[in-house]
Amino acid sequence: MQPSAIGPLQMTLPISFEFFPPKTEKGVANLRHARQRLYALQPEYCTVTYGAGGSTQDGTFAAVAEMLAEGMDTASHLSGIGADRQLVRRQLAQLRAMGVTRLVALRGDLPSGYGGHGEFRYGSDLIEFIRAETGAHFKLYAACYPEVHPQADSAQSDLQALVAKVRAGAEAAVTQMFFNADAYFRFVDEARALGLDVPIVPGIMPITSSTHLLRFAGNCGAEVPRWMRLRLQGFGDDVAAIRDFGADVMASMCQRLMDGGAPALHFYTINQAVPTQAICHRLGLTQAAETRVTGPA
Ligand code: FAD
Repeated sequence: MQPSAIGPLQMTLPISFEFFPPKTEKGVANLRHARQRLYALQPEYCTVTYGAGGSTQDGTFAAVAEMLAEGMDTASHLSGIGADRQLVRRQLAQLRAMGVTRLVALRGDLPSGYGGHGEFRYGSDLIEFIRAETGAHFKLYAACYPEVHPQADSAQSDLQALVAKVRAGAEAAVTQMFFNADAYFRFVDEARALGLDVPIVPGIMPITSSTHLLRFAGNCGAEVPRWMRLRLQGFGDDVAAIRDFGADVMASMCQRLMDGGAPALHFYTINQAVPTQAICHRLGLTQAAETRVTGPA
């Protein structure tokens, strides 16, 4: 199937790309290659995830430093669970010295068997601390959950958790992955009804394999619609067909999100260029970036 641009060129829609810190030399090289290709799409910024309990601190900060040195505005994720104030204070000083100006501040998830939650119980506690320590230096992003965080007492209390994060100083929120645009639209309406006016940016997970998709989605409480699961199963081991189908489905969802007023798109790249490029290409974002690079004819 030939990829096709399904919508008009979106010249001004900001996009951002999320990467994770690789564990091996090969992974580091793969990430370098992937992000260089994705930089061509001219993201507003990129981000690097952070393992709860500080498990990836060195890898996260090293990747952030490399990307900043490449001229890419790069946010570090930072999680509070299992940490104490002294550690976070040191990390904030280090990130500032590196030139980081954006942080995705999260509670994080501790691996089972890990001790208590430390001095930051919720994402809002970490955000409040960062604001108190560093004033307006960092632009802070919080996480939010259109399909409700798996540990939430209720959808309402989870929305209140976002309210708390914004009151504590988050200037924007990025959603967990979802595969149903209506869940996003309803969530945004409910947030607006509570007086939240920060941008709520959809987090987009490209589909590369049926197994990965179901695992990622299952872990974070995102629902994969039945029709999508069945279609994916029907492709068996045909990776190319899965990727084409996945890019079509996600591009259609992105187009709906943009038409419905989403302020930006944040892509969970899983450190691969092609799946995200395929979605952006279908949206016309590739051409938009090329036009920006070369200037109008
Ligand atoms: P919180 O907002 O603290 O919410 C956690 C749970 O507590 C929710 O169920 C909420 O409803 C509940 N809650 C919050 N406040 C209260 C309260 N006052 N009283 C009672 N209940 C409350 N994880 C990582 O480890 N590293 C990453 O880099 C990372 N990046 C992410 C990026 C994005 C865009 C997203 C959406 C998630 C990311 N995560 C990451 C996952 C995230 O850490 C987990 O989803 C985590 O379980 C929740 O983090 P949070 O900051 O949203 O927590």
